[in-house]
Amino acid sequence: MPAEMKGPLIPTVNRFAVGSHEVTAVLDGWVVPEAVKPPLCLDLKDEDIAALAAENHLPEDRYEHPFVPTVVNTRDELVLFDVGFGNSGPAESVGHLRDRMAVAGYAPEDVDLVVFTHVHPDHILGVMIDGAPAFPNARYAIGTVEYDSWKNGVGFPDTRKPTQDAFERLIVPLADQMTFLDPGDTVGAGITAVEAFGHSPGHMMFMVGDGADQVLIMGDLAVHYVFSLQVPEARVFFDDDPDKAIATRKRVLDMVATDGIPVIGHHMPFPSLGYIERKGGGYKWEPASYQMRL
Ligand SMILES: [Zn+2]
Repeated sequence: MPAEMKGPLIPTVNRFAVGSHEVTAVLDGWVVPEAVKPPLCLDLKDEDIAALAAENHLPEDRYEHPFVPTVVNTRDELVLFDVGFGNSGPAESVGHLRDRMAVAGYAPEDVDLVVFTHVHPDHILGVMIDGAPAFPNARYAIGTVEYDSWKNGVGFPDTRKPTQDAFERLIVPLADQMTFLDPGDTVGAGITAVEAFGHSPGHMMFMVGDGADQVLIMGDLAVHYVFSLQVPEARVFFDDDPDKAIATRKRVLDMVATDGIPVIGHHMPFPSLGYIERKGGGYKWEPASYQMRL
């Protein structure tokens, strides 16, 4: 009897060491938007998108959009960056963060601190599940500019109304348990907040490590490993301030390419860990292999 066909099987957790820290990427899930443009490459010609896709062995009419929160154990604390969709996601294929953290050996109660890179829905909806905190022992941290911008609610397009509502419903009630972060602030041992405004008004990244061993949790600095890196100046529907997002993207990509700092990207292909290299006038995603295990 032939063996049964079982469908795709993909990895969902990946842990590695950065100095004295342990860093675990966890796949909350993914969706497949049925077009590249929009939301990506808004100002690129269709034929240029098709050429870019073909050159990178990708379809030109859809893409995979993964969601990858990160867990960092500093030895003192377990810190979770972003919380996925919980049970409020758009598809069955998302909202698996807590189940997959269990695979990595972490219970929801183990999380000491939840840090939000920004408040777009895929990063905050999972903070409450069935009306209760998803990580019941956790304190919270968020960028001051991010919190204040959404609280004041000025200057957002109508398309961000659902985000504003989710922020009011889920994040504002946590204000008493919230640490507000400015660029350069320390979040936990060896974790520093880094300014990356533009994708959202106060979007933050986080440098993790000791001395020469570092990784940058880059959040949504770039949201696709080909379309956002090879053409970093392309406009993206998800960027709240497109001009600032593009300037920030180019500045930070230049820095990590120059310094050879590995990055974790929330929307990079799982396990979402890699290096940024220069390619033409843009950049190229170089997925990490075994570097972090040696
Ligand atoms: Zn995102």
